[in-house]
Amino acid sequence: MTKLRTRFAPSPTGRMHVGNLRTALYAYLITKHEGGDFILRIEDTDQERYMEGAVDIIYRTMEKTGLLHDEGPDKDGGVGPYVQSERQASGLYLEYARKLVDQGDAYYCFCGQEELESMKRMVAGKEISIYDKRCLKLPKEEVERRLAAGEPHVIRFNMPTEGTTTFHDVIYGDITVNNEEMEDLILIKSDGYPTYNFANVVDDHLMGITHVVRGNEYLSSAPKYNRIYEAFGWEIPVYVHCPLITNEEHQKLSKRSGHSSYEDLVDQGFLTEAIVNFVALLGWSPQENREIYSLPELVEAFDYHHISKSPAVFDIQKLRWMNGEY
Ligand code: GLU
Repeated sequence: MTKLRTRFAPSPTGRMHVGNLRTALYAYLITKHEGGDFILRIEDTDQERYMEGAVDIIYRTMEKTGLLHDEGPDKDGGVGPYVQSERQASGLYLEYARKLVDQGDAYYCFCGQEELESMKRMVAGKEISIYDKRCLKLPKEEVERRLAAGEPHVIRFNMPTEGTTTFHDVIYGDITVNNEEMEDLILIKSDGYPTYNFANVVDDHLMGITHVVRGNEYLSSAPKYNRIYEAFGWEIPVYVHCPLITNEEHQKLSKRSGHSSYEDLVDQGFLTEAIVNFVALLGWSPQENREIYSLPELVEAFDYHHISKSPAVFDIQKLRWMNGEY
């Protein structure tokens, strides 16, 4: 059997929300339960969303909670995490995008803001904008001439327009989308950087990730990712999308609620062991009547088939109780 490999792939955009910590923890537990490898990959190619200091928060949180990664490039005499902005310097992602262009699965798009605006239309009272593939029809010579003239452009994936795409998630089952709803995803932006979607797929493949663990806000992107895997002829990983976390009023836990990041909880006096224990139970039910687990005990007991798809409620009283047990 192939060794399991999971990764935590945060974008450094802010503090480490409990939802991010849970994703990291589940990815760690899934692989460690089987003696596999855990990888940390910083997805920082989106310069607009980058927040100064966020990477250090991620490193600190991973270290304090004991979610240590197993491999990565050499850094200061140790094993660093993978960092996409460093990886992209070699032109790696662009090379893969060009491969898709060469095989007809992607194309150069020169459309500016004005043209994109003109494609907006109202569907069921909602404004939607689906790229109309006009640059796909450009003759090859024109594309080459415009590229040689240095015209700003992006590279888009050529999604199918008919039929459906189905993908399987361990928690949510089969999900099917109509292909006409899938826009031609941008792979490389006009600044030459990959979109985080594309870098994410390329790296998951290159790093041999067998199980992709992430929040359920990515469920709608997964079918598009599958199309890219298929175009390359790569094996599709097992998807584990984790349920939403809500407050006690059943609303999505907001960053403003004051206790939603690891550091906020530490500042409020909660012990790291209690936080990790509590976060593990946000969506996962042990198959025994027990609630207090150390990290090694979680590794032993964790089975991702028992993650629920119903939203998990962040119950601070329960965390208080757990904290008292340590
Ligand atoms: N970089 C994404 C984020 O921080 C995660 C994507 C993924 O795990 O596939 O939200």
